[in-house]
Amino acid sequence: MKNFPGTIMTKLPNMGTSIFAVMSKLANEHNAINLSQGFPDFQISAELIDLVNYYMKKGYNQYAPMPGVPILRQIISAKTEKIYGVSYDPDREINITAGATEAIYAAISAFVRDNDEVIVFEPAYDAYVPAVQLNGGMVKYARLEYPDYHINWDEVPRLISQNTRMIIINTPHNPTGSILKPDDLKRLERLVRGRDIVILSDEVYEHLIYDGKRHEGICHYPELASRSFVIGSFGKTFHATGWKVGYVLAPENLMAEFRKAHQFVVFAVNTPIQYAIAEFLQNDKNWLGLPDFYQQKRDYFVDLMKNSRFRIIHSYGTYFQLMDYSAISEEKDTDFAARLTREFGVASIPVSVFYHKKDDNRVLRFCFAKENHTLEKAAEILCRI
Ligand code: PMP
Ligand code: GLN
Repeated sequence: MKNFPGTIMTKLPNMGTSIFAVMSKLANEHNAINLSQGFPDFQISAELIDLVNYYMKKGYNQYAPMPGVPILRQIISAKTEKIYGVSYDPDREINITAGATEAIYAAISAFVRDNDEVIVFEPAYDAYVPAVQLNGGMVKYARLEYPDYHINWDEVPRLISQNTRMIIINTPHNPTGSILKPDDLKRLERLVRGRDIVILSDEVYEHLIYDGKRHEGICHYPELASRSFVIGSFGKTFHATGWKVGYVLAPENLMAEFRKAHQFVVFAVNTPIQYAIAEFLQNDKNWLGLPDFYQQKRDYFVDLMKNSRFRIIHSYGTYFQLMDYSAISEEKDTDFAARLTREFGVASIPVSVFYHKKDDNRVLRFCFAKENHTLEKAAEILCRI
């Protein structure tokens, strides 16, 4: 095909291909162990697969209702109430989305107008900034302080202006594995009080939290919840990242705006998987064990790495482990990650890509949502470097 002969006025001039696509491709090309893109390498529940099959055969194969199938919204409402003690109306305050990614995009496009400002903490998951920019918004960058990646609350108030429309938070945090503490949520609550600022809280790793800590989700803070979109993903909770089913919780007036956008981004999410998840979610055992399950993976991986020259940066949540390689090399993290993949056969994600100015602390992100033998093979290689 000949290229478009006209001039393309790109809306995302500085945007390359997502680092996850880049590193997974490099891993495949070099037959490397892929600890880069975050996805489990083990099977999902056979029961869940059977349930999808069951609902497909039963004929649940046409469009779902625009907000999601009612039974799934009811179950999410009950689960949220049970965990957080807060009530979201299944009809008016819960919406099923095509993964958390769609929830993030639809919430941002419903609220962010030309020249609105959105505060994003860096390092930041890669889906936030382009969504703001595609909708004409301006990103104000706040920094999570290295090496423990805490919020600097002296800095954030200075970023607020008349144009601040939204603040995006993410806990447990991708890529760093840090988590917000009660004081962070209280500071946020005070900061936005009396202002027309909406919070987008990306909580896709709500169940991947370790060391006996409580997930400080927005739902624990009613004042914040009344101005927030809380976003979840079944990709993380049921090890099924390829299914792309997530959800969003918000008070009715925010949700009404969200749905105006959502209905034209995807309209509705695939039907049989929603029914299957609804049934599977009813058994608490199918998700209550997640913190223990992943904490064991984290601890196993960290233990395997104890004699390496990589320095572990403690991961409190998510299925990511950051490691500082400054004792090994002075290379840029993007170069080192590429070389590690090509020459040593282990793929990771360089953390500088999550900063707009590519801040480089010589830190790589490794995904430990893997079979033990995968972690053993990777650690054996990494310990030799
Ligand atoms: N937010 C964060 C912080 C994530 O890590 C991910 C995916 N890994 C998403 C959103 C997107 O989730 P989904 O795959 O459900 O779209
Ligand atoms: N969220 C996953 C990660 O952080 C990847 C998502 C994607 O590939 N876009 O690795």
